[in-house]
Amino acid sequence: MSDAYDVVVIGAGIAGLSAALYTSRQNLKTLVISKDLGGQLNMTTLIENYPGISKIGGPELAKRVEQQARSFGAEIVFDEVDEIVRDGNAFIIRTYGGDEVRALAIILAFGKTPKELGVPGEQKFKNRGVSYCSICDAPFFKGKDIALVSWGDLAIEPATIINGVASRFYWIFPGDEPGVEREFLDQLLAHGKVVLVPNSEVVEIRGSRSVEGIVVKNRKSGEVREIPVSAVFIEVGYVTKSDFVRGLVELNERGEIIADWEGKTSAPGIYAAGDIVAYPYKQAVISAAMGVAAALSATSYVMSLKGKPMKTIIDWKAHK
Ligand SMILES: Cc1cc2nc3c(=O)[nH]c(=O)nc-3n(C[C@H](O)[C@H](O)[C@H](O)COP(=O)(O)OP(=O)(O)OC[C@H]3O[C@@H](n4cnc5c(N)ncnc54)[C@H](O)[C@@H]3O)c2cc1C
Repeated sequence: MSDAYDVVVIGAGIAGLSAALYTSRQNLKTLVISKDLGGQLNMTTLIENYPGISKIGGPELAKRVEQQARSFGAEIVFDEVDEIVRDGNAFIIRTYGGDEVRALAIILAFGKTPKELGVPGEQKFKNRGVSYCSICDAPFFKGKDIALVSWGDLAIEPATIINGVASRFYWIFPGDEPGVEREFLDQLLAHGKVVLVPNSEVVEIRGSRSVEGIVVKNRKSGEVREIPVSAVFIEVGYVTKSDFVRGLVELNERGEIIADWEGKTSAPGIYAAGDIVAYPYKQAVISAAMGVAAALSATSYVMSLKGKPMKTIIDWKAHK
């Protein structure tokens, strides 16, 4: 690892890896700093909705893009970024591992992590019936009994999707009502599959090789019972760890980075891509595309700093 780069990408999920593939192919000296390889792709068993690839494991997709990025010269180090400070026309990036590198441009692609329940069985059955993404994984459980833990606006999409595939759909939420509009709830109930489980929380997820049931506790009566299901979807929001860029770029109230279609943030020279961006759809192909947009913008920016301005970057061939 050298100590000065054209572009430093933070995060080696699909957004960061796609960005690095593009900047390195444009002959920009590119470093990716990431806690791990693949990010959320490691939590997916199978991806069936990435255009052009009918089925692929999440880690396999990450590995392929990593190899593609490395083949154009991108370097990857595994560490956690702690601090970014501006230094004239450049940035200094410091890691918890004690390294310090300089970059002319930065691409923030450090993603989000779904909130977990923290109950016994949750870790053991991840990707084996425990999922945090119904749009991604619910079709794998077509015709099965499925539980959903979610409420309020967050629950509308998963409830609709699960209602479409489940044989029986147990909807678990902490209050008297799931917190959605009455009309929406009535439409779901009309299908006859939904079993509302109000005032409740999941206290354990059970099974042998995969999920076979959930243990649910009624918060009012204290009653505990087991509900047999093949899958439990937990959609209770995301954890965003963006404090280290607070004050550097504009964030929304959820800690997501505000960026435009070109990946530009409020700070010149800093771009953002993927799930960390304030954009409602969190999907692999969207993160990849955002990574590419941010990379092309960063390339224009770096070339301008080097006195070789490029108005439009078209990646049909590598920049010489
Ligand atoms: C269970 C599950 C199933 C899914 N299934 C699908 C599917 O079938 N199809 C689909 O399209 N999408 C699916 N998704 C969504 C998809 O995985 C995400 O939208 C996508 O992977 C997000 O990519 P990203 O690169 O933006 O962020 P992430 O994947 O979150 O990557 C962020 C990276 O940044 C690193 N990082 C974080 N903080 C720091 C730091 N301070 N310093 C250094 N590195 C840092 C992390 O270690 C990670 O490598 C699924 C998500 C989940 C959770």
